[in-house]
Amino acid sequence: MKKYDIVVVGGGPAGSAAAWQAATSGASVLCVDKARFPRDKPCGDGLTPRALGLLEGMGLSAELERFPVVEYLKIRGSSSWQVRWPDRPGLPNFARVARRLEFDELLLTHAAGAGAEVRQSCEAIAPIRTGDLVTGIEVRTARSTTERIRADIVIAADGAYSPMKKALGLESRISGPVGVAVRAEMPSNRPHDPSFEIHMPLRFDRRYIPGYGWVFPLEDGRINVGAGYLTTFRQWRDINLVGMLGDFMKSLPPEWQLPEIAELRKARAVQAWRLPMGFTAWPPWRPGLLLAGDAVGAIKPTNGAGISKALQSGLDASECAVAALAAGGPHDLSGYERALRRRWGLQYGLARGAFRAVGHPRPISLAVRALDHAPIRRLAIRAGFGRDALRDYSDGPDRIPAAVPGPTVRDAG
Ligand SMILES: Cc1cc2nc3c(=O)[nH]c(=O)nc-3n(C[C@H](O)[C@H](O)[C@H](O)COP(=O)(O)OP(=O)(O)OC[C@H]3O[C@@H](n4cnc5c(N)ncnc54)[C@H](O)[C@@H]3O)c2cc1C
Repeated sequence: MKKYDIVVVGGGPAGSAAAWQAATSGASVLCVDKARFPRDKPCGDGLTPRALGLLEGMGLSAELERFPVVEYLKIRGSSSWQVRWPDRPGLPNFARVARRLEFDELLLTHAAGAGAEVRQSCEAIAPIRTGDLVTGIEVRTARSTTERIRADIVIAADGAYSPMKKALGLESRISGPVGVAVRAEMPSNRPHDPSFEIHMPLRFDRRYIPGYGWVFPLEDGRINVGAGYLTTFRQWRDINLVGMLGDFMKSLPPEWQLPEIAELRKARAVQAWRLPMGFTAWPPWRPGLLLAGDAVGAIKPTNGAGISKALQSGLDASECAVAALAAGGPHDLSGYERALRRRWGLQYGLARGAFRAVGHPRPISLAVRALDHAPIRRLAIRAGFGRDALRDYSDGPDRIPAAVPGPTVRDAG
């Protein structure tokens, strides 16, 4: 039976970052993914400045140049405003969009280039355990044979549905909010606009729901359009996700000439997925096992950004794994728990509390109405982006194109 220092399950942003970091530190590392790359992942394809900073740290600056730059964040709703990302040390003041088909393959290839062994079409079907200690994984290969692979430490970076977490029956002491979102990539006549456009609020049955719609620019006039909301909304199961996307698309300017939702569905361009946020697997380790990215619920609850969190938690998990192996063994991986708590513990804890309230339409409508008032909006921007962001802040329909009406979501059956 083959043995590695570290086996990473999943070759998305969390798994590739973890594999890259482990290989760069000199560990023997295997990364398995059940998919064959290039593979897609339902996503808005937005890379925040923080994600770009981490990718640059991984030596990918030159490769990132090919992905379109996004300069502004535009909020459209009952009030409309736009802001530029602030100057922050070590981070660019812009974002990018990268189709996951291309981006994830780039990351996985980068991990392989650093020395990680990569096996695609290789599905982890069960953890191997010796008592409480995870000591490897059992995989099903492309030829449908099974194989056992030993590892000192396994990093589960197997995404929002984390089969590893499920197979181990892990209970979580913390339960952050879970979102659901749907997106489609499509052609459009929209003039190129280097901005992430966020449309809020969404409504269901005339009530506000905690979520937003987005339009992100890709190349050649193509756009990524999507919508998502938190399942803290009591009636979330009554909402038809695809119907919601269709209604949102209808609310966008007709001159963009977007395709019909039925057409996109037929072409299988409409995909939905979960977003576990604010930590949904805690502690994020067990003897011999670390969880990273969506598998640990690392997505930022306030905006749904998960790529930077997947990268960061993957890097942290590997760093901790390598340190633990050097210090004596895989039994105590609590350094990782401390690292995640230091990074996001307070922020995610506050968000978990706030989002419990956000399941109710009333606090959402109060928050949305509060943002209609310029002084409160300015305070919110300052809190979210820092004082400098207000230098590039513009407000109101005379400064940016008029807002399109917020979509009304109805159950489309
Ligand atoms: C609709 C939508 C829009 C989003 N938009 C954005 C955005 O614009 N910007 C942003 O920052 N974040 C966004 N997110 C969040 C972001 O997509 C995720 O947080 C991110 O992909 C998490 O990365 P990951 O590596 O943890 O998991 P994933 O990217 O899901 O990768 C997990 C990998 O594990 C593999 N895998 C699963 N099971 C097994 C198994 N048993 N054996 C082997 N391999 C396995 C999968 O094939 C996959 O490659 C969005 C999410 C959704 C749903």
